[in-house]
Amino acid sequence: VRVTFTPIHRREGGIAGTIAVLQDVTEQENLEESRREFVANVSHELRTPLTTIKSYVEALDDGALEDPQLAVRFVGVIRNETERMIRLVTDLLHLSRLDSKEALLRIQQTDITEMLEDVADRFSFQIRQKRIDISTRVRRDVSTAWLDRDQIDQVLGNLVSNALKYTPEGGTIELEALKNEDGMLSISVRDSGIGIPKKDIERIFERFYRVDKARSRNMGGTGLGLSIAREIVKAHGGSISLQSELNEGSKVTFTLPLNEQRGSEA
Ligand code: ADP
Repeated sequence: VRVTFTPIHRREGGIAGTIAVLQDVTEQENLEESRREFVANVSHELRTPLTTIKSYVEALDDGALEDPQLAVRFVGVIRNETERMIRLVTDLLHLSRLDSKEALLRIQQTDITEMLEDVADRFSFQIRQKRIDISTRVRRDVSTAWLDRDQIDQVLGNLVSNALKYTPEGGTIELEALKNEDGMLSISVRDSGIGIPKKDIERIFERFYRVDKARSRNMGGTGLGLSIAREIVKAHGGSISLQSELNEGSKVTFTLPLNEQRGSEA
């Protein structure tokens, strides 16, 4: 609570009394606090790869260049770190566009089966490499829906990419679309992977929140995939949730309105 006192002066001099204003600033402070935390996180996330790049460049400068094998390895590390920084900045720009509501949705009628199979195809190389069994299932009453295809492609891409990252070789990934009890289109991505501890599930959609920072980093993650997915789904008027059992797998479900009218608003 912020308190401001304003004295009331008598015309003839002296003070007649004081007005005290009590203002509830909890919300403002929370916002300020989360902004500070976000800036600290971004700085840290950018500083880490920059420090790595700097030390590898110095090592090359100090003689590693003379050893071609070593030099190739070091250049590889530098390239990886640079690519991750580019991904991070791209994700940040995308988030800031979503935050500013600048990103208008381009709603179009979309074939759901085609959309799900398309995302599976995009990852076919990694899927084959990890011998993952992927399946898609679309119920007949949701064969088409009105949505921003590019944005929902990104949501699905983030979810399938996570499912792949956090599922060991030989696992399964299931994509399913159905009409839920509220009449919404519900799309889920289920994996048989490492799962998420109960205590982390609640915070998993927060920006930069990760169960295992080192593992996420090694996998090339930015820690922003789920928060971007949540913003896109929210912009469509839907919601997103995650269920998970440690060592058994995770299931992320998001809903979208099936309502055709939205199409004309775009
Ligand atoms: P990241 O780039 O780290 O993958 P995300 O925002 O996509 O960032 O996910 C945040 C964190 O949630 C991940 O670091 C990981 O700990 C956890 N996570 C997300 N999806 C899964 C999944 N399918 N299985 C297990 N853990 C997951």
